Amino acid sequence: MAIPFDRKFDVPAGDDVALTPLLHRVLAPNPGPFTFKGTGVYIVGKKDVAVIDPGPDIPAHIEALKHALAGRHLRHILVTHTHSDHSPAAKALKEWSGAKTYAFGPHGSGKAEEGVKVEEGGDMDFVPDVLVRDGETIAGDGYTFECVFTPGHTSNHMCFALREEKALFTGDHVMGWSTTVVTPPDGDMAAYMASLRKLRARDDAILWPTHGGPVREPGPFLDAYIAHRLEREMQIVTSLADGVDTIPEIVARLYADVDKRLHPAAARSVLAHLIQLTQEGRVGREDRGGATHYHLLG
Ligand SMILES: [Zn+2]
Repeated sequence: MAIPFDRKFDVPAGDDVALTPLLHRVLAPNPGPFTFKGTGVYIVGKKDVAVIDPGPDIPAHIEALKHALAGRHLRHILVTHTHSDHSPAAKALKEWSGAKTYAFGPHGSGKAEEGVKVEEGGDMDFVPDVLVRDGETIAGDGYTFECVFTPGHTSNHMCFALREEKALFTGDHVMGWSTTVVTPPDGDMAAYMASLRKLRARDDAILWPTHGGPVREPGPFLDAYIAHRLEREMQIVTSLADGVDTIPEIVARLYADVDKRLHPAAARSVLAHLIQLTQEGRVGREDRGGATHYHLLG
């Protein structure tokens, strides 16, 4: 089942784009192989507003946000997770507005409870003012968010559901233009799959990812998203059965038609699948000849 991706999204960075009467977006100037056209920063509300994922610490971007927020009161800064294209601008916006920041916790906080130390690729400086948990609400004048905890892409990933529009802001958990990267040790495939199924059980009318345009039919899209991961897992199992048993060999086989710049990330996703399969007792591993080899069990 092909995932119905939409890659037509194309808007200029820095513009304040109205999406619904309650919702605006400002695109940051940080396009790339992981960020697509850049970080889409959402502004929710009319006079009082919340910002979701302020974005990267780029001066021109922060100026564009201040311009878009001029004449309004920024009350809440919501952060889905602590990757460097999502949270760093929170500091400047907070200093400028006095608004508090809301998130699950600092980078790696979802894994810290398990004793796993995580440092890779995160915004280690971000510490939320208010720690939020699954099911809690954040209310402003004209908007109400429900926090939907969705670990997997990172261990601290939180989606935010806007009640007034039955809309869900999905951060990098679900993206409309691509699958997402699950990088161990902070990224966790078993948690990621559980978080996808959690969204499938909801009845959100629309998903607004950080990168790219919205997903207007969440149900079928999530079905395809979940099926894609299960298919990937099956391809990995088949590779092991065929004796293709190291991560570089598996990546070369499964991602032959994917942009080479994405192969290191693909290797992390394959590792994430193999960790899950190992935890489930379906795969074993041994180190020999300077490489880690995996094999099917049972
Ligand atoms: Zn991310």
